[in-house]
Amino acid sequence: MKFCSYCNSWIDKKDFASHPTTYDRLQRICKECDRKRFREYYQRNKKKVLEKNKEWIENNRLRHNEIARICHANARNIDKEIN
Ligand SMILES: [Zn+2]
Repeated sequence: MKFCSYCNSWIDKKDFASHPTTYDRLQRICKECDRKRFREYYQRNKKKVLEKNKEWIENNRLRHNEIARICHANARNIDKEIN
């Protein structure tokens, strides 16, 4: 169990996303709170988030194409597995 400082509750460690630099290699807040926090942030800063995404894609066009290619390939593989 690990304490989530966002919802102030003890949560199973498997419900925390991994983090490369914290002492236990886990995020300080649980996955559910992380999602909630991002949704709230997104609602408040929609324009900024979308602008940042656009900016990232423009600056990382090759990387974005690569990620898109992998995502599409994975989606195709999943389709194959289902059919
Ligand atoms: Zn939490």
